[in-house]
Amino acid sequence: MLFKPTFWLKNVLAIDEAFLRKHNVRALVLDMDNTLSMHGNPAAEEGVSEWLDKMRSLGIKMRVVSNNTKKRVAPLAAKLGLPFTANGAKPLTFGVNRAVKEMKVSKSRTLVVGDQIITDVMAGNLAGIRTVLVEPFHLEKTWTFRLKRRLESLVFHRDYNDLEMK
Ligand SMILES: [Mg+2]
Repeated sequence: MLFKPTFWLKNVLAIDEAFLRKHNVRALVLDMDNTLSMHGNPAAEEGVSEWLDKMRSLGIKMRVVSNNTKKRVAPLAAKLGLPFTANGAKPLTFGVNRAVKEMKVSKSRTLVVGDQIITDVMAGNLAGIRTVLVEPFHLEKTWTFRLKRRLESLVFHRDYNDLEMK
């Protein structure tokens, strides 16, 4: 199913060594807005920089694929030391496919990580890569965003305490 994430985690910080080992993961295609940093925030969320270092120490390859502009993505990606693709046009797959190619890791050992079903999860599913849906660090307050979340909850019968979706 195109809209169904493989895993549903609280945020990127929940991706740890045990999780990666259990699921045989060597590379992550990371969304930026609401996944590493709140939308428009020039800084990453607390803990993200340390988490990236931990991932690197485990030998995990990472690349940002964002639908946002280079102007937004480049400064934060540079700060975090991550290669990136801006204007990634998810749910189209070219940005994600390119990222996998650049990281030289097979799709079967890669995860697409992001906070949105209609862009991140769909792009991963269309590309044939497992996906992780994460919560934004702070839920956005706009009514459109809330409506979207509510629809997602209805569709997926979401249980906020569930760490993994089966
Ligand atoms: Mg996002």
